[in-house]
Amino acid sequence: MKREFREYEKKNDFLICVDSDGSAMDTMEVKHRQCFGPCVVEEWGLQEYEQQVLHIWNAVNLYSINRGVNRFVGLLLVLEYVNKNLTLIEGLEDLARWVESTKELSNAAMLRYLEDDSSPFLQKVLHWAQKVSLHIALLPVEERRPFEGVAEVLLSVMDESDIVVVSAANPDAIFEEWELHGLAYFVNQMFSQNIGSKDFCISELLKKGYDPNKVIMIGDSMEDLEAARACGIHFYPIIIFKEEVSWSRFDQEALGRFYDGTYAGDYEQALIQEFVEALSASYE
Ligand SMILES: [Mg+2]
Repeated sequence: MKREFREYEKKNDFLICVDSDGSAMDTMEVKHRQCFGPCVVEEWGLQEYEQQVLHIWNAVNLYSINRGVNRFVGLLLVLEYVNKNLTLIEGLEDLARWVESTKELSNAAMLRYLEDDSSPFLQKVLHWAQKVSLHIALLPVEERRPFEGVAEVLLSVMDESDIVVVSAANPDAIFEEWELHGLAYFVNQMFSQNIGSKDFCISELLKKGYDPNKVIMIGDSMEDLEAARACGIHFYPIIIFKEEVSWSRFDQEALGRFYDGTYAGDYEQALIQEFVEALSASYE
């Protein structure tokens, strides 16, 4: 699978960008509950506060408008909460500084940064991030499946649309999951956290000559919506707890509108409103 923009070729007038975790793949719950949160508890020795830390990890990263945020930003938000409300986290400002200044929020970028900076705190962050990636890789394949209906939708659109994955996740996990479940076959290319942010990826794709009105981002997070808005393309939401209904609605309703140019306006706005309301109300 090719990864670079310079090698990307536009084949159709329409382009469908698909986010992976929580949109095409039913992987958000298992990755966050079994990998991200428990690894924070372990790395920072927070066993005494385990229940609170796991609760706040899930509240921030799964059930809020921050859903799907990059792992390092999610970690910063959670550790800031821990530092303020539970116990002192020494060195946290190093992570805040890196998140603000780095051009790329990825394990690889953190590794490169630490060649010139010896922050013990960031060493821990990198160790955590690598351990999370390892835990995710070790999750059984049957726990990292696509939502029902995704393959059918991709099959039905592939003759008229180019399809790309635009994800903020670790590239190895994305490639493995899409290959294992046979979805990679439908996709022209996959872009993930090592290539750049979602809006960077979409804006590079637009340079290949697509009319923004014929490009849509399918996503489950505010970050997906914001990337779509920043690039002037359409957004189709995969709504939390209604993922399969969302895919079937895309197939039966939204796709036709996207193709005939009637997607924008009241119809798209109503979907976005439903999406934001569902995210805001998902916290338990
Ligand atoms: Mg997502």
